[in-house]
Formats: sequence, structure tokens, C-alpha cells
Amino acid sequence: MKIGFIGLGAMGLGMARNLAKAGLLAGVYNRTAVKAQDLAVELGVSAYADIATLAADMDVVLTCVSADGDVLAVVAAIAGTAKIGAVVLDMSTVSSETAKQAAALLQAKGVAFLDAPVSGGVEGANNGTLSIMIGGDADTLDKVRPVLEAMSSRIIHIGPVGSGQATKAVNQVLCAGINQAVTEALAFAQAQNLPMEKVIDAVAGGAAGNWFLDKRGKTMTSGTFAPGFKLALHHKDLKICQRMAEKAHVAIPLSAMTVTDYERLMAEGYGDEDISALYRLRKPI
Ligand code: NAP
Repeated sequence: MKIGFIGLGAMGLGMARNLAKAGLLAGVYNRTAVKAQDLAVELGVSAYADIATLAADMDVVLTCVSADGDVLAVVAAIAGTAKIGAVVLDMSTVSSETAKQAAALLQAKGVAFLDAPVSGGVEGANNGTLSIMIGGDADTLDKVRPVLEAMSSRIIHIGPVGSGQATKAVNQVLCAGINQAVTEALAFAQAQNLPMEKVIDAVAGGAAGNWFLDKRGKTMTSGTFAPGFKLALHHKDLKICQRMAEKAHVAIPLSAMTVTDYERLMAEGYGDEDISALYRLRKPI
């Protein structure tokens, strides 16, 4: 089974490295070609100059790009040349509608599609401990399960195409609330002139402990906001969540507040910083 990877960003790089470590990666493509060339040399795999050539060569193609339009453009390029019977897995975070469109486009060419968004951050991508939420056919998932196992510690088949992305939207609503809670609490602690490292260690060990506090608490309070997860990308996800919430007549006020906060940070030029840059709006002056 020949496997290719498209999109060597903060997440894709770690995922591709773990596939190569498991002996599963044949080739890579990245829009900014030098990233693919460097990784191909590092891993001893092929660098492809275009998506169509990679797709023509592979039995399984994984994609991890930015937003809905990017996924549809990449899938259109794959659909032009992919082998009949090949499988495409999209690991980007996009809407369920985009996943369904991608699946329909590929199905018409005899190519299977799974939406396979991930959670676990750059650390999860690098360490091969991502949680993967799958939408699509169970037999197709069984075929590619060993590929996913090389990158993850949890693979959950949610249901039909689109349901992986709907589940990822739930994850993103949770992340918004957690970001609000952690940044607010740590700014509150800093305003009490408490020793921040000790405070974070203490509260992280109890009922308030969580991944974001663990991984980003100390960096945000020391003024470091390197991604991680770009806040412009989480903003893109929360806009999808807001559309889903509106359609279902459910309120997601913490997400709405986070969208407004991110828009302020993006207007101030912080869109490429980690989502923990929300702390900029909370920290005591
Ligand atoms: P990133 O570092 O910004 O990387 C984006 C990647 O997509 C780059 O390789 C970029 O190529 C490529 N790309 C974007 N548009 C493209 C297009 N139209 N055609 C071809 N390639 C394109 O983003 P990331 O953090 O890796 O995130 C990737 C996806 O995973 C996003 O959907 C994000 O929401 C999701 N995600 C991120 C995290 C996280 O913690 N970072 C966690 C879970 C899920 P260039 O190198 O040329 O720019």
C-alpha cells in the first residue's frame, strides 16, 4: 500500500514523520515546495512537485491543509488522477458539508473518502498520540486503520461522512471554553501576585487540570505565544460551529465571545499566534 501526505504544516510534519517511522510513507507534497523537499530528504521518501502526480502514484492519500476552500481545491486535484479504489483521508478541520462535497467528488471517480479530523495539538502530531474522529464507511476505515494507528492513540468511528467533522466542531467549542477559563483564571492569579509556576503546578493536579493548562499555562504567563494552534485557524473553526449552532437553535455563548476576542487579536496582527494569545486580552496591565 503506497501512502502519500499533502500539507506539511505544524500538524502535517509530525504526522508524516510518524508514518515514515512506521515504514508507511512513500511521498509528500507541500504547496511551499521547499518544505516537501527538505522532509523528503530527511525521511528518504519522494517529494512531489504537484498533487496530481502524487495522487496518481498512491493507494492512500492523507491531507492536512488549512480551511474548507483549501480542502476542496486539493481534493479536486486528487480526483483528477487518483487510482480507482484509492482512499483519501482528510485530517484538516473543516465543515461537515465540505467533507460531504469532497466525498461526492471522489466517489464519482471510484475513490473512497473519510473525514478524519484530529485533536491533540502539535504535541499529539509529533508524538503519534492524536485522537482521530472518523466519518465514513466502516470497511474503508478497517483498510486504513494501520495507517491511522501510526499517528494516533485513539481512533473513533463516529458515523457517516461528515460526522467526524461534526465531532471535531464539538471539540472546538470545548477548546473555546477552556481557553476562556484558563486565560481568565491565570490572569486572576497573576493579579494576586502569586508565583505562577507553582500555582499552575498546583491547580493542574486537581479537578481544574486540563491539556491546555498543562501545555500552554506556563508559556502564556511568560509572554510566549508561538503556535501551536494558530488562533486564526480556531477562529475559522468557531465560525463553522456558530453556523451549526444557529441551524440547530442552540446557544454557544463562550464560542461567540471567543470569536469576538480572536477578531480583535487578528485585527491587532496576532492571528498567527497560538490560541493562548487570548491571554493578551486578559493579563493585568
Ligand atoms: P499550518 O501550520 O498553517 O499548515 C497548513 C498547511 O496547509 C501548510 O502545509 C500549507 O502549505 C497547506 N495549505 C494551506 N492551503 C493550501 C492549499 N490551498 N493548497 C495546498 N496546501 C495548502 O496549519 P496546521 O496547524 O498544520 O493545521 C492544519 C489543519 O489541521 C487545519 O485545518 C487546522 O485547523 C487543523 N488542526 C490544527 C491543530 C493544531 O494544533 N495546529 C490541531 C488539530 C487540527 P504552505 O506550507 O505552503 O503554507
